[in-house]
Amino acid sequence: MLYAPRDVRVEDRPDPVIETPADAVIRLVATCVCGSDLWPYRGIEAVDGPAPMGHEYAGVVEEVGSGVRTIKPGQFVIGSFFASDNTCPICQAGYQSSCVHRVPMGSIGTQAERARVPLADGTLVATPETPADGLVPSLLAASDVLGTGWFGAVAAEAGPGKTVAVIGDGAVGLLGVLAASHLGADRIIAMSRHEPRQKLALEFGATDLVTERGDDGVAAIKDLTGGLGAHSVIEAVGTQESMMQAIRSTRPGGHVGYVGVSHGVELPGQELFFSAVHLHGGPAPVRRFLPELIDLIVRREIDPGKVFDLELPLAEAAEGYRAMDERRAIKSLLRP
Ligand SMILES: [Zn+2]
Repeated sequence: MLYAPRDVRVEDRPDPVIETPADAVIRLVATCVCGSDLWPYRGIEAVDGPAPMGHEYAGVVEEVGSGVRTIKPGQFVIGSFFASDNTCPICQAGYQSSCVHRVPMGSIGTQAERARVPLADGTLVATPETPADGLVPSLLAASDVLGTGWFGAVAAEAGPGKTVAVIGDGAVGLLGVLAASHLGADRIIAMSRHEPRQKLALEFGATDLVTERGDDGVAAIKDLTGGLGAHSVIEAVGTQESMMQAIRSTRPGGHVGYVGVSHGVELPGQELFFSAVHLHGGPAPVRRFLPELIDLIVRREIDPGKVFDLELPLAEAAEGYRAMDERRAIKSLLRP
């Protein structure tokens, strides 16, 4: 529970129960702290505490409502940060995070031992079998940061023949690098000034590193791309500086995939007009990608779980937040 900025407490709450026939209750095997949890933690986003926290989850189904058809007790499941029916026209178009019936998991709180998952049939994806413990961090990453980085890369149209620049060296940016690499991009420029994150970016497939940011970062991208800018830019921060850096680093006709949660960003219309770039982003429809991502993980083709460089018992959640806030950790995994 977040009581106030920088005041995280672990406490007993009532056990979740089935509230509607479409619900499931899961026992969390692993959960984690998101970069977006740091906005309220730092007081940049208002906190109406005590508020339940967490929207990333991997766990075992304990109970399902009478209307649940495909999800069964005992299955190991992963879901996204928005529960979605996966049947409405918006879901069918692949935008499950904008489902007409969506429920934000953050309002329920998955940094917990158990959680209620609404719209269980639409939201949850089961693994083919109970995964080995070593796969759990990667499967948990699929719940948000991997799916979000993946959407950033897809929205930026990363692929063969493309130079992709990635702004943001948090877990989402790093997994945007992984996604761009998997999608076949020719060249991937990771923007980071932190050595451990640079190293992980290279492991995930980055071909170039740029340490500058802002206008200098834009100049560095232009230098690396014959003065044109990148074809594809993944924006994984959400600030005015990073968004403008993304737009200015993209060549005319290119694509920006923006997945950093926007805070105080205002776009200058005339500059946007003359940039001739495509902008696409928003809350990632992680559910669209979950079946493919789970498959890649269980076949050990990708190892996104490497972004977790700190693992703690749930009881030490406050330290998980502190470590990320102080950038001592890229991402904290919590074991209930
Ligand atoms: Zn829907």
